[in-house]
Amino acid sequence: MYYNQDTIIYHNGEFVKAVDAKANVFDASLHYGYAVFEGIRSYGTTSGVKIFKAEEHFERMEFSASAIGIPYPYKNDELIDISYEVLRRNNLKDAYLRPIVTCPPNMSLTGAKSSQLTIAAWAWGALLGEKLIRVKTSSYRRINPSSFVVEAKVSGHYVNSILASKEAKELGYDEALLLDINGFIAEGPGANIFYEKNDVLYTPQRGSILPGITRATVIEICKSLDIEVVEKQIIPEEVFNADSAFYCGTAAEVIGIESLDDKKFPKNWNETLGAVVQEAYKNLVLEKQIKTAEQLA
Ligand code: PMP
Repeated sequence: MYYNQDTIIYHNGEFVKAVDAKANVFDASLHYGYAVFEGIRSYGTTSGVKIFKAEEHFERMEFSASAIGIPYPYKNDELIDISYEVLRRNNLKDAYLRPIVTCPPNMSLTGAKSSQLTIAAWAWGALLGEKLIRVKTSSYRRINPSSFVVEAKVSGHYVNSILASKEAKELGYDEALLLDINGFIAEGPGANIFYEKNDVLYTPQRGSILPGITRATVIEICKSLDIEVVEKQIIPEEVFNADSAFYCGTAAEVIGIESLDDKKFPKNWNETLGAVVQEAYKNLVLEKQIKTAEQLA
C-alpha cells in the first residue's frame, strides 16, 4: 500500500529504493518512540504539483526535534526540495509525504547525539469531505501536558492516538474524540475539532492539543470570510449542544461530523459553517481563487 518494488525514498542522505532501505532494530526510536515526524499533503494544482504549507510542516518538525533533544542538522529549504524530488521520482501528484527523524541505537534513556532522516511519499487522493463521520468520546484522555511536550509531533505520543482510535472503531464508530486531563475537549487522534453554535465557530485553545497547521489554516480562512472563531476551554456539553462540528487535519482535511456519541448534530451539513470552510479549504489547497468576504457580499 505504501510502497512497491520501484518506490524511491530519501534515506540518510540519498535516494534509494524503499525495499533496499535499512533501519536498525536497535534504534532508540523503535524501542522508545523517540522520533519526530510530519504528515504533509501534496496536490496536483492547476499550476503543477504543490506541497501544501511545506515550510510550516518542516518548521514544526524542527521544533519537535529540538523540544525533545533530537539533533536536527537539516536545512528545511533543502528538505522541501528533496520532498519535491521524492514526488517527482515516484510520479506522484496527490500524495502524502512522511518525513521522519529517528535516533540511532541507544538502549539507555538518554538524549540522542545524532539522528537519521527519511522522507517517503505515497499516493493519497484528497478526501475533501466525501462523507460525514460518527464520533465517540474516548475513555482515553490526551496526555497530560505536564508529562510531555504536547505541541511536538513525537512518534511515542501516537500510542495514545492508536488506543483511542482503536477503541472507537471497535465500538462501531468512525473516530474518537479525546478529552484533556481535566475533562475539557481536546482533539481527535489525528485531527483538531471545531464546533458551530449560533453562527460562531469554537475550537479548543492551545495547551493540551497538537495545534494543527490545518487548524491555523481554518482560522485564517475564517478571518478572510468574516466568520468569528473563538479559541477557549470547551466542556463536552457545549459540543453536544452544538449546531454542527467538524474535524480538520492534513490527512482528514475538513471533514464533517454527523454525530457525537450517537447524538446527531441538528444542522444539515451543507448549511453549516464547516461546509463553507471545507469548500474554501479545497480551493486553497488546489490553488483556486478564494473569495474574500467583500467579494462574497
Ligand atoms: N492533532 C493531532 C493529534 C494530530 O496528529 C494531527 C495531525 N498532524 C492534528 C491534530 C492536525 O494537525 P495538522 O493540521 O498539522 O495536520
